[in-house]
Amino acid sequence: MINLVLFGPPGSGKGTQASFLIEKYNLIHISTGDLFRYEMSHDTPLGQEAKAYMAKGELVPDSVTIGMLRNKVEKHPDAPGFIFDGFPRTIPQAEALDALLISMGTEVSGLISLAVGEEEIVQRILKRGETSGRADDNDEATVRKRIAIYKKETAPVFGYYDSKHKSHSINGLGTITEIAERLTASIDALEKD
Ligand code: AMP
Repeated sequence: MINLVLFGPPGSGKGTQASFLIEKYNLIHISTGDLFRYEMSHDTPLGQEAKAYMAKGELVPDSVTIGMLRNKVEKHPDAPGFIFDGFPRTIPQAEALDALLISMGTEVSGLISLAVGEEEIVQRILKRGETSGRADDNDEATVRKRIAIYKKETAPVFGYYDSKHKSHSINGLGTITEIAERLTASIDALEKD
């Protein structure tokens, strides 16, 4: 079973790469951002709760996010593995993910971070905002806040898995195909560990 954490700042290309990887490795893709946007578009209580945080570029509280993630994982007891995209974003989320996977008799195989510089990210997200319809992609101050929160709250998750010898970083600049090739090489190396 491969359980991959696809990691990196907002706008680093995680979603784009995940859609390619799920086909190649036959994994279940779980994007907590997509799950929150789905709940918001259906105006559910969970969506209503997440909305204010997302619009401001802040993280949705761990208790809400972890509960949602756990429900989604538990819906796929026979999955050949998962790609976690945008989760975990805090150390408590990483601890909760580890506990959940252990309870299923498995574990995180590896974390792969897409390395992209800050200015490139800001430009990519603002460009995406022209068509994505996402309120959090349109305003430069909100985009910069998301990056600041990434550095403070989320970047430590790399160190958390690094201390377990599970973190890897690849160059996130280049064409979609070039980045996919780097990711594939990194995943295939994980499988040999
Ligand atoms: P994303 O689509 O991954 O960029 O996520 C968009 C927004 O959803 C984030 O800025 C947060 O407000 C919220 N979100 C997504 N995943 C998480 C998470 N793991 N923890 C907390 N908030 C999250």
